[in-house]
Amino acid sequence: MKKIILFTFGLLLCFSCNESKNSIETLKSKPETKKPEFAIVIHGGAGTILKKNMTPEKEAAYQAKLEEAIKVGYEILKNGGSSLDAVEKTINVMEDSPLFNAGKGAVFTNAETNELDASIMDGKTLNAGASAGTTTVRNPINLARAIMEKSEHVMLSGSGAETFAEEQGLVTVKPNYFFTETRFNALKRAKDREKVELDHDAKTTFYDPFIKDSKYGTVGCAALDKNGNLAAGTSTGGMTNKRYGRIGDAPIIGSGTYANNATCAVSSTGWGEYFIRAQVAHDISALMEYKGLSLKEASKVVIQDKLTDLGGTGGIIAVDKDGNMVMEFNTAGMYRATMNDKGELTIGIYEK
Ligand code: ASP
Repeated sequence: MKKIILFTFGLLLCFSCNESKNSIETLKSKPETKKPEFAIVIHGGAGTILKKNMTPEKEAAYQAKLEEAIKVGYEILKNGGSSLDAVEKTINVMEDSPLFNAGKGAVFTNAETNELDASIMDGKTLNAGASAGTTTVRNPINLARAIMEKSEHVMLSGSGAETFAEEQGLVTVKPNYFFTETRFNALKRAKDREKVELDHDAKTTFYDPFIKDSKYGTVGCAALDKNGNLAAGTSTGGMTNKRYGRIGDAPIIGSGTYANNATCAVSSTGWGEYFIRAQVAHDISALMEYKGLSLKEASKVVIQDKLTDLGGTGGIIAVDKDGNMVMEFNTAGMYRATMNDKGELTIGIYEK
């Protein structure tokens, strides 16, 4: 009897050894595919950002601000906050910095004013809010959110949007709050160049100064929260030397911003006219929804093929419903950063 018990025990031991050996092998052969609980990705504009034009101090300042901004959103998400809060508060940090072309660092129009655009979208409800051409609202992304949540409209513009901001108790400032020496000098350079170029070929020069002078600098954020909700937002001063009340892609839902829990959340930056015509942000989502492309594939098609073929320049940041993050651009650089649920941070400026 004793022998039988020992034999059975031995067999069991052997079996369980094999079992655990097998499960170790299974673990080894199959990499961990657990979906991230949350994720956040930001941009601070795309454009002709070249290392040779950058001082170490400037580079460090951009990196520090990107890190500060993304960590604000990361903390919100880590503590179970919503992707909308993460997007709004992260963008606020960049809006309040003169480094970026949004809020405090907004570029100048041809008339030497600052006219700001912003939008935000909630991937759960497909609600969206946008403001265009405001001159007195300190944080246009807050206005975009208020329009989404507290009005029955999607987009408000100019003085009407400013009245709504005041009614909602948002922080307003005198228009000269947005004055920065750097942006004003950029306008002067753009105007000088325009004068020279107009002498040569009036037809093709209208937008040239925008591109040649551009470090762009629009800001944007896309986030996935612990409840599986996606959100995206974008805020900008537009393009240097813009005129005639020009509005870019940043406040256009589907171009500058898009979010849908079924697919992804996207924020764009670049030459707005092309982003509007290519419907960049929604196109990425649509390729995922209707054609089953991955976020990476869809972003590549839209930026490297469609936008590039049209002649447009810029990029996007995006996160999908599974927490995959993408930063795709066809310019020399894009200020950008990501953080995953493990707190791992990446920051990039130049192409590679
Ligand atoms: N997309 C913005 C615009 O066209 C500019 C930018 O991204 O820097 O207004």
